[in-house]
Amino acid sequence: MNFELNNFELTGRLRAVLFDMDGVLFDSMPNHAYAWSHAMTDFGLKMEPEEVYMNEGRTGKGTINILSQRFWGRDATDEEVQQIYDAKSALFDSLPEAQPMPGAMEVLKKIRARGLMRVIVTGSATHALLDRVNAAFPGIFSPELMVTAFDVKHGKPNPEPYLMGLQKAGIGPEEAIVVENAPLGIQAARAAGIFTIAVNTGPLKDEVLREAGANVVLPSMLHLAAHWQEFF
Ligand code: CA
Repeated sequence: MNFELNNFELTGRLRAVLFDMDGVLFDSMPNHAYAWSHAMTDFGLKMEPEEVYMNEGRTGKGTINILSQRFWGRDATDEEVQQIYDAKSALFDSLPEAQPMPGAMEVLKKIRARGLMRVIVTGSATHALLDRVNAAFPGIFSPELMVTAFDVKHGKPNPEPYLMGLQKAGIGPEEAIVVENAPLGIQAARAAGIFTIAVNTGPLKDEVLREAGANVVLPSMLHLAAHWQEFF
């Protein structure tokens, strides 16, 4: 195993697990990577799929401006942002719907069996989110314990989404753990003071997730499901 158990220390009594969504609960990042890199490249902003993973969690505008600064030497105008984001969204919507991440339901069932709260903390802004989550993971999540882009002013890597998740659960940071896949999401969770398990479901090196602050890096949700007992 590629992690050290002595790093795995929770100071409080565990009461909740906070889950990121894309790349953790759903295997949706390949679609996002494809859609972003193709849409950007169509507008003359060459974006490799790996860079999509590096910027996962950033707002659309923030992501576009990183590329526009590099290739055009300036921020994109609001109109350009809208055009590129619309193109990305259209491409994304044309792809087959992402499936639940292998192992995610097993992890969730084990957490439910322990009587721990399950919280979703996502930068996604989809109104149909709860329906989609309930269809994929029936009986696991409830609307009171979900944080979406509609709930917060600042997205990841700002800690606000995870602080809001703690607030909704009525607990402190020492009573929770986070499961994340993206560098900016890990930074947000650590800035909120929460122990963070990274599942490396994308193409980035483990080192990138560790440098973002992950307490533990695991290769997959299947791995977390299989080794859950060793952690808790
Ligand atoms: Ca994610």
